Amino acid sequence: MIFLDAAATTPVRREVLDAMWPYLMGGFGNPSSHHTIGESAAAALAGARSAVAAVLGCRQGEVVFTSGGTEADNLAVKGIALARQAADPQLNRVAISAVEHSAVAESARYLERFHGFTVDVVPVDATGRVTPEALAGALHPETALVSIMYANNEVGTIQPIPALAQLARARGIPFHTDAVQAAGWLPLDTRTLGVDAMSISGHKLGAAKGCGALFVKSRTRLEPLVHGGGQERGRRSGTENVAGAVGLATALTLARDRQAEQQARVAALRDRFIQQVLAEVPGAILTGHATDRLPSVASFCFPGTSGESVLLELERRGVVCSSGSACAAGSDAPSPVLTALGFSAEVAQTAVRFSFDASVTQEDLDAAAAAVGAAVAGVKNLGAGQSR
Ligand code: PLP
Repeated sequence: MIFLDAAATTPVRREVLDAMWPYLMGGFGNPSSHHTIGESAAAALAGARSAVAAVLGCRQGEVVFTSGGTEADNLAVKGIALARQAADPQLNRVAISAVEHSAVAESARYLERFHGFTVDVVPVDATGRVTPEALAGALHPETALVSIMYANNEVGTIQPIPALAQLARARGIPFHTDAVQAAGWLPLDTRTLGVDAMSISGHKLGAAKGCGALFVKSRTRLEPLVHGGGQERGRRSGTENVAGAVGLATALTLARDRQAEQQARVAALRDRFIQQVLAEVPGAILTGHATDRLPSVASFCFPGTSGESVLLELERRGVVCSSGSACAAGSDAPSPVLTALGFSAEVAQTAVRFSFDASVTQEDLDAAAAAVGAAVAGVKNLGAGQSR
C-alpha cells in the first residue's frame, strides 16, 4: 500500500513514541500534584513547552497545549474575538479567508450565530492566494480578529503571512494563522511571521492524534473556552496530556532540524509527480499555486470523472489518497475551497489530493503516477460504458 494521505494524518514517529513512553508508564503523574511523581510530570511538561517555544520563537508562557488543531483554532478565533468584544462591544466583525479549514470557518459562524458578529470572507485568487489588497478590502474599524491559514490543506497553497499579518496589525487588529498543514514544512518562527496567534497539530507531523498547541502572544486578550481547574495559565483547563505534549515537542524539533533538507527533497519529488500525472492524464488540472505550495501536496481535478470513483480505483491499485479535506469526507457538497478558487461544482467533485510525509520515495511516486493514469482511464471507460 502506498499511503499518500499524510495531510489527513501521519503515523507516530519512532523517536516520538520513545519520548512519550515514559510519561504513559512510570512517569504517569498529574502535573498539578504536589509529590515527586506529579513534579516529574510537571517538569516534562515544562520541558515540552520550552522546546515548542524554541521552534515557534516565542516565550514559554505564550504556548497553550490543546487537544489538537481544531481546538487551537476554536480557542484563537472565539477566544480572541470574544475577549475583544467584551472589552469594546463595537468590535463585532471577524475576517477569515474563503479557504479556511472548517475549524476556523465554523468558529467564525458560531460567533455570527450566537454573539452578533459579522463574518467578512476574504476572497482568494484562482491559485488560492489572499492578496494584501483583498484583505485590506475586508477590514473595518470594527474588525476584532483576522484569521488566515498559513497553507491550505486541500490544494497546498501558501499564503503571504508576513505581509497579511503586518497589514492587520498596523490597524491594531490581532492576526491568527492556522499553521496545521505548514508545520513540519515551513518556517514557524512567530516573530518573523509577525502573527499574534498560531495553531499547530501533532498528528500531521508524526506525533499522536489529540495533541496540539496554540501560540498566543503575550498581552493578547483571550477568553478561555474550557473552564475548570485553571491549567495552562487559565487559558485551557483540564489535566494536561503530558505524553502528548512531549511527543508534539519532539516531532516539532525533529521536523525543524531536518526541514531544509526534507523540504527541498520532497518538493523535487512533488514536482516530478505533478509532471507525471499531467502527462498520464489528458485534461488533468493542477489545483492551487504552481510554485507557492506545500512540498507535501499535489492536488488535481480530473474532469469527466468523480473524485470518489478515482479514489476507489486507486485503492484497488494500492494507492491511498483523498478527495479533499478528511474532515469533509463523506460529504457530497463540492469543496468550498475549490469553489472559492473558481472551479464549478461539477469540476470540484472530480478533485483528488495526494499528500506526502518525509518518508516518501521516488519509486512510490512513480508507481502512484502510473496508477493514477490507469485509475482515471478506468473511471472514464466505466462512465462511457454506462452512458452507452
Ligand atoms: N486546520 C487544518 C488546516 C487542518 O488540515 C486540520 C486537519 O485536517 C485541522 C485544522 C484540524 O486539526 P486536528 O485534526 O488536529 O483537529
